[in-house]
Amino acid sequence: MQKNQSFSNDNKATLYVLATPIGNLTEISDRLKETISLVDAIFCEDTRVSSKILNHLGIKKSLYSAYENKENEAAKQIISFLKNNQSVALMSDAGYPGISDPGNKIIQQVIENNYPIVVINGPCALIQSVVASGMDTSHFYFYGFLDPRSAKRKKELQSLVSFENTIVFYQSPHKLLETLQDMLEVLGDRKICLCRELTKKFEEYIRGTISEIIEISDTLKGEMVIVVEGNKTKEVEIDKTLIELIDIKIKQGLTKNEAIKEVAKAYNVSKNELYNFYHKGE
Ligand code: SAM
Repeated sequence: MQKNQSFSNDNKATLYVLATPIGNLTEISDRLKETISLVDAIFCEDTRVSSKILNHLGIKKSLYSAYENKENEAAKQIISFLKNNQSVALMSDAGYPGISDPGNKIIQQVIENNYPIVVINGPCALIQSVVASGMDTSHFYFYGFLDPRSAKRKKELQSLVSFENTIVFYQSPHKLLETLQDMLEVLGDRKICLCRELTKKFEEYIRGTISEIIEISDTLKGEMVIVVEGNKTKEVEIDKTLIELIDIKIKQGLTKNEAIKEVAKAYNVSKNELYNFYHKGE
């Protein structure tokens, strides 16, 4: 067991994990500024991006690189600072380190070496989006980025088909149309909220069905998050409609078993029951 009090008086060197603005620099808190001033070194995803925040604050500090492929090396450097009783800050380009950004490996290694972690809170695209979406937030699931390749992406979406809670995806603008088309095919025409350019001048929330947003997808640029409503289909009765869907999928090239499996998953019904019903009608 390990117990670290964040604000004890023993002045143990600490790794401060800083959440930084996702667009709007006025979201920098006094606490963030104070922490940047007090640490001995700052490790960042991209020193050019982080130097803009330091310039904005008028603070001069040594910046060290901790980009994704350099995390293990950066962790070693950070631990040697901590061993010398020097505190360190870790920041990514935007939002929280470790949330679809480098940082997680560093945090794990610092914990293994028994140094305290203190998080300085700030903006996060995930939380802002799920709150503003208006979808059910009693339970939600953060998926992060889907795979950029369509086949792999559809498999990932398939694993989420029957999930009943809200799902949040980070999304690159270049792949928006492809992703929405795969979502429509695999998840059905669900309600989504596309959250764009958060905290910036052109911030907007577009709420509609996947097919409605596909219609305007070529006009949507910038950074974006997609919040998808969970599966709300009530218990579906196994009837002729599902059999027709299976036949359509067979015509599209799936084998009988593949088609039955896909329809069972999409409509949350037992594969065996659907199989037996299908064969009764043959
Ligand atoms: N660490 C960040 C966080 O805590 O939110 C996420 C970094 S991840 C590399 C970048 C993705 O976050 C973008 O592709 C987008 O999905 C989302 N994102 C970041 N800033 C955003 C913004 N201002 N508006 C909308 N989405 C944003």
